Amino acid sequence: TAKQGGKAGFVRYAEGMGEPVLAHMRLGGELRRALDDGEFRVVYQPIVRLDRNWVIGVEALVRWHHPTRGVVSPAEFIPAAERTGLIVPLGRFVLRETCRQAAAWLAEFGPDALKEAGLNVSARQLHDPDFVSDVADALTDSGLPCERLVLEVTESGVLRGQQISRALCELDRMGIRLALDDFGTGESSLSLLRAVPAAIVKLDKSFVDGIEIDDGRPAAADARQAVARAVIQLAHALGLDTVAEGIESAEQVAALLELGYTRGQGFYLAEPMPAAGVSRLLARQRAVETRVTREIRARS
Ligand code: C2E
Ligand code: MG
Ligand code: MG
Ligand code: MG
Repeated sequence: TAKQGGKAGFVRYAEGMGEPVLAHMRLGGELRRALDDGEFRVVYQPIVRLDRNWVIGVEALVRWHHPTRGVVSPAEFIPAAERTGLIVPLGRFVLRETCRQAAAWLAEFGPDALKEAGLNVSARQLHDPDFVSDVADALTDSGLPCERLVLEVTESGVLRGQQISRALCELDRMGIRLALDDFGTGESSLSLLRAVPAAIVKLDKSFVDGIEIDDGRPAAADARQAVARAVIQLAHALGLDTVAEGIESAEQVAALLELGYTRGQGFYLAEPMPAAGVSRLLARQRAVETRVTREIRARS
């Protein structure tokens, strides 16, 4: 009905602008409703030590459990959430949930089990003047020590504006670690290293794809490995940690280890899973460690 004043007027105006705007508004409204109705969940993909297949961290990834459409992937709604601004409250939800969960793992499994938990942050969030205090609050409320939180940013999320560099520097000063996500895919990944106080670079999946294939040339000239090789050398020179993304085979693990990568993430190692799945992995690792410790003690 057209009588609800400003709101109805806004809808009429939007209709005049054509279908895409309407579809976008509908999705925007649906995202808001979904957030209020608790349809977003966080899953965690293990980050693994490549030499012994040992979980050392996680990356939080959001999922939308839609009542009729099932599980919707972030590729389908993150862009709309960014356009509509809903990424700010949605991102805050992911932040708080991840901090809470990471603190629970720390309490249950101790300081050596999971070193860090990462989450993705978009430009829109970094632009939000409340972002830094939201992070500080999430850490305080959860009790998670700041050095256990990793914030992943992409080039498109970073290269714009003073406000963002100020936020990133403040987060760095707080002791939070910043990771450059999808590293190597942007137009100016190298400038990014100077602009952002990064602690970690995440080698993009596109440079892991095909890395295991021997193209017949001498190793140093292997084009399929060139970027992965350059990135690890750069990381070593700058004292940054690395994570190789999107690992799908044992052959890729071997090739990455050969190049000097020690940490990775990918379906071959572990898929994104609910928190309970990570708890099971950590419990299994604890059992292995307890057994090994006992064996060592028994021998000495
Ligand atoms: P990303 O941060 O680069 O996350 C890695 C993506 O690669 C995830 O997709 C993960 O499921 C997928 N992946 C991991 N291992 C493999 C593999 O071996 N093979 C293949 N093909 N894919 C693999 P996902 O969960 O669909 O997320 C896609 C993107 O959406 C993320 O890319 C990130 O940019 C964005 N995203 C996800 N959650 C959030 C969030 O909470 N906030 C924001 N701002 N963005 C998010
Ligand atoms: Mg990421
Ligand atoms: Mg990534
Ligand atoms: Mg990626």
